[in-house]
Amino acid sequence: MVSVSIAGSTGSIGTQALEVIKEAPDSFDVKALGAWSSVELLASQVKEFIPEVVAIGDESKYHDLKSLVGNICEVRAGSEGLSSIASISDITLNAVVGFKGLEVTVATLEASKRLALANKESLVAGAPVVNRVKKAKGGEIIPVDSEHSAIFQCLKSGGKREVSKLIITGSGGPFRGKRLEDLGEVSLEEALNHPTWKMGPKITVDSSTLMNKGLEVIEAHELFELDYDAIEVVIHKQSIVHSLVSFIDGATIAQISYPSMKLPISYALCHPDRHKVPYGMVNLAEVGQLDFEAPDLATFKSLSLAYEAGRIGMSMPTVLNAANEIAVDCFLNKKLAWLKIPEVIERTMAATEPVEMSEIKHVLEVDFLARKTAREIISADFF
Ligand code: MN
Repeated sequence: MVSVSIAGSTGSIGTQALEVIKEAPDSFDVKALGAWSSVELLASQVKEFIPEVVAIGDESKYHDLKSLVGNICEVRAGSEGLSSIASISDITLNAVVGFKGLEVTVATLEASKRLALANKESLVAGAPVVNRVKKAKGGEIIPVDSEHSAIFQCLKSGGKREVSKLIITGSGGPFRGKRLEDLGEVSLEEALNHPTWKMGPKITVDSSTLMNKGLEVIEAHELFELDYDAIEVVIHKQSIVHSLVSFIDGATIAQISYPSMKLPISYALCHPDRHKVPYGMVNLAEVGQLDFEAPDLATFKSLSLAYEAGRIGMSMPTVLNAANEIAVDCFLNKKLAWLKIPEVIERTMAATEPVEMSEIKHVLEVDFLARKTAREIISADFF
C-alpha cells in the first residue's frame, strides 16, 4: 500500500484522485488532505478518508475547518501548513490551482518524495528552483497533466538520445476554428464551455486562449529537457490522442484513450506499475475518425507568447504566468475582454527585464512585480 497526500483535494483533479483511490481502496492510504479555501468539501473528505493531517491554505478558515472536523485529525493552516503535508506520504499529488502550488512542489522535492504534478504553473514559473531542488534531493516528478503523462509513457519506447520531437495535442478549446474578428465579444459562459474536458475555471479559460498549451510547452521543456524547436503543438479536436513522441528512426508513438483525468492520475500514483482499474480505454471503431490541424497562432497569440517566454528563459516564463493569472482573473470577474488577455501578457513581458532566479524568494519577487505590472496595464487602459 502506498501513502498519498493530496494538496488541492477539493478541486477537479483532487476530487477525481479521491475517486481513483476509492475505486482501489487496498492500494492507497490517504495520509493528508489540503485545500486552499473550500472548507466544507474538505471537511467532508476528512470524514470519509480519515487522514492523519488536514491543511487549509487560507488561514482565516482555520477555525471553521477545526470546528467541522473536531478531533478526527490534526488541522494545519496557512501556505506553510499546506506545504507541510508534502513530507508526510510516499507520494504528494499537487493539484493546487495556479502559482500558489509552487511551495507544495518545492516542499515535496525537498522531502525527496514522489511529486505527482498536476500544478503546471509551479514548474512553468519556478523551474530554475524546482529543477535545482529536484537534482539536489534526487526527487522524482511524475506528470499528471494528460499530455505530459502521455509523453512520459511514449518515451518508454526509446532512449533519451533517440527522441526527435515531442508533439503535444490540444483540443483547440471552445473557439477552435474562430478568427480574431469573431472573438471580440466573447462571454464568460462561452469561454467556460469546453468541448471535451470538464475542468476548473482557470484552466478552462487558459484552454480557450491556448495559453494552456503554451504553459504545457514550457512544462514539457522543463520535464523532458528538450529544446523548444523539438516541441510541437497540434490541434486535435477529439482529445483521444493525448500526445506523441517521434523518434530518430521516424517512428511516432502515441498514447490514446478517451478523455479521462483518472488515467494520468492513477498512472502517476502507481508508476512504474499500471493501475488495475481501466479508465478511458478506447474502442477505435466507435471513435471512427481522428482529426489534426496546425494551431492558428495569429488568432491565439498566447501560444506564441509562451514559446517566446520559454526561449528567453530565466524569469520570463514566471512573468508570462503571473500576467496570465492576473488577466484570466480579471476576465473571470468580467473586468477584462477575452481578446485583451494576450495583450496584457505581451505588454507585461515587454515591460520586464528577465533576471536569473535561484531561490524561491526570487521567484516570489518576480511574480509579485509582474502581477503589479499586469494590474497597472489593465487599470490604465481598460477602465
Ligand atoms: Mn493538459
